[in-house]
Amino acid sequence: MKLTVVGCSGSFPSAESACSSYLVEADGFRLLLDMGNGALGELQRHCGLYDLDAIFLSHLHADHCIDMCAYFVARYYRHDGGRCDPIPVYGPEGTEHRLTTAYADTPTASSMSEVFDFHTVKPSTFDIGPFTVHTERVAHPVEAYGIRVEHGGKSLTYSGDTGLSPALTELARDTDLFLCEAAFTHGKENIPDLHLNGREAGETATRAGARRLVLTHIPPWTDPQVNLADARAVFDGTVSLAAPRQSYEI
Ligand SMILES: [Zn+2]
Ligand SMILES: [Zn+2]
Repeated sequence: MKLTVVGCSGSFPSAESACSSYLVEADGFRLLLDMGNGALGELQRHCGLYDLDAIFLSHLHADHCIDMCAYFVARYYRHDGGRCDPIPVYGPEGTEHRLTTAYADTPTASSMSEVFDFHTVKPSTFDIGPFTVHTERVAHPVEAYGIRVEHGGKSLTYSGDTGLSPALTELARDTDLFLCEAAFTHGKENIPDLHLNGREAGETATRAGARRLVLTHIPPWTDPQVNLADARAVFDGTVSLAAPRQSYEI
């Protein structure tokens, strides 16, 4: 499978990057993990507007889902006059209502379900196209999920947004690539059940036995090199920083 970073800025976009969005491809199938602020524009560097096959939303904070409103417009009001068939959208309880009200203040008039086939995520194992995915609740102020995507004997694990979480460690067990948030700075911010710092991301990767760690969701006001060094100090495998337009073969 191939992972491409569409956007990786944490909490709000930077001058260089959109917010969270990651494209996972295998067997010609395209699964998008999250669609935060600015992601829809960046996505068009990597595939056509209508080439996605499924979308997974880790949680309903705007930096992970708000460009779904723009994508609704693109799918519902096609310039050729047609309307796109609904594609599967996996998200927490209430995803359709949240996106509908973010788009307009008349939720009953919503047409979102005409172009999005909403599925409610719970901690479970299921198939999305050629992928087997596992979802687990992680530690965040709202209902939030980490996801493990498996294909061809390889795995990618994406933390979503989370504080320290035993469930995330299990989800990332022996994973080939661990895409883990590191929004906080070790020794600076310490709010439980919100975000990880670089050191905690590295420790989670070590406990899980992950093979490779990619740090993501670092906000523009945080020095990524500090988080990178903090993770390297506690994880022996390869560690790098996510960057827009970067791809990984897994
Ligand atoms: Zn976030
Ligand atoms: Zn969040």
